[in-house]
Amino acid sequence: MLDFLYRHPVGSIGEFTTLSKSLREKLAGAMSLAPLVLRATLEAPDGTIKHAYEVSGTRGRKAVLESVWMPSEPADIGPVDEHPADGVDLPGFEGKHARHTLCISSQLGCAVGCGFCATGALGLQGQLTAGEIVYQVVHCLILYGALPDVVLFMGMGEPMHNFQAVCAAVEIMTHKEALGFSSRRVIVSTSGELERLATFHRRFPRVGLAISLNAGTDEVRNALIPLNAKFDMRALASFICSIEPAKGDNVTLEYVVLAGVNDTPSQIRALVAFLRPLAGRVKVNLIPFNPVEDLEYKSPSRESVLKMHETIRSAGIRVFVRRNRGRGVTAACGQLAGKM
Ligand code: SAH
Ligand code: SF4
Repeated sequence: MLDFLYRHPVGSIGEFTTLSKSLREKLAGAMSLAPLVLRATLEAPDGTIKHAYEVSGTRGRKAVLESVWMPSEPADIGPVDEHPADGVDLPGFEGKHARHTLCISSQLGCAVGCGFCATGALGLQGQLTAGEIVYQVVHCLILYGALPDVVLFMGMGEPMHNFQAVCAAVEIMTHKEALGFSSRRVIVSTSGELERLATFHRRFPRVGLAISLNAGTDEVRNALIPLNAKFDMRALASFICSIEPAKGDNVTLEYVVLAGVNDTPSQIRALVAFLRPLAGRVKVNLIPFNPVEDLEYKSPSRESVLKMHETIRSAGIRVFVRRNRGRGVTAACGQLAGKM
């Protein structure tokens, strides 16, 4: 049965040919194989495809959630965009490129309310079930005949605010009789819910961790990520020092670059001072801000991002620049706003 669900998914319970007809009929009345209904797919010129799903069911009004399928072609990777899978540096993948990365959602909207993020502007509209989270991955088998090589919890929502469902989904993704992903091919990103992240890491020590840093000082981070009032940069540094990621792995620190806000000389100085003691434990992903309707923030110039990259790199910290994939269809980081 797991095979039908995860390896060769079928469209209806009637196709579970190893089960008796009467059991199939019973099951069909009790469960649904497709908890999400695909309403639209939008393809950007760079080959990135956004999937917009409608969630039906118990949460009252219908909501839309999104996942993003990103093919990685080495050809479109510039000199500093040298790493595979859009910022994911995979053990065993050095110098190669993961073929497909899927960015999935963990919640409908998000309660954290980061001022630069389209999902944050929605507020929290509802939680996803583990089945709805996993289905975003399984559905790729139906759409593309292949599972992604890497799954990123970097779509809509704060994964640590839907803890039980995210843990169950990761369990299913990494269980060898279910989707069978190597844990290192699953990466969970948080805006800084460190207590739950520590619990998550104890349970899934080999799953990749990413934390959205986004500033060089608490003052600026407070203004960008309200959660910094609870878990500030000092807490973040001590969390990173306290954990043992899987051998050879680092914690990824994401840094959305907002022109004139967190790319100023003083922010970069403070950032480097923060990162220095963490060298060898972290790698930094610089993500040029992707414009969001009605938000005042501005994208940085390429020069400013390259300069930041160079300053961080010469301080001995591993740093990458993330390509702005999917911009043409508002599928890039932080542009997911559950609209079709
Ligand atoms: N809630 C989690 C995961 C989803 S957000 C988190 O915040 O980490 C995934 C990434 O997108 C985060 O690093 C976030 O800082 C970044 N992001 C949000 N809005 C963005 C925007 N408009 N442009 C670029 N990156 C953005
Ligand atoms: Fe939520 Fe992440 Fe967006 Fe912040 S950046 S509002 S935590 S989805």
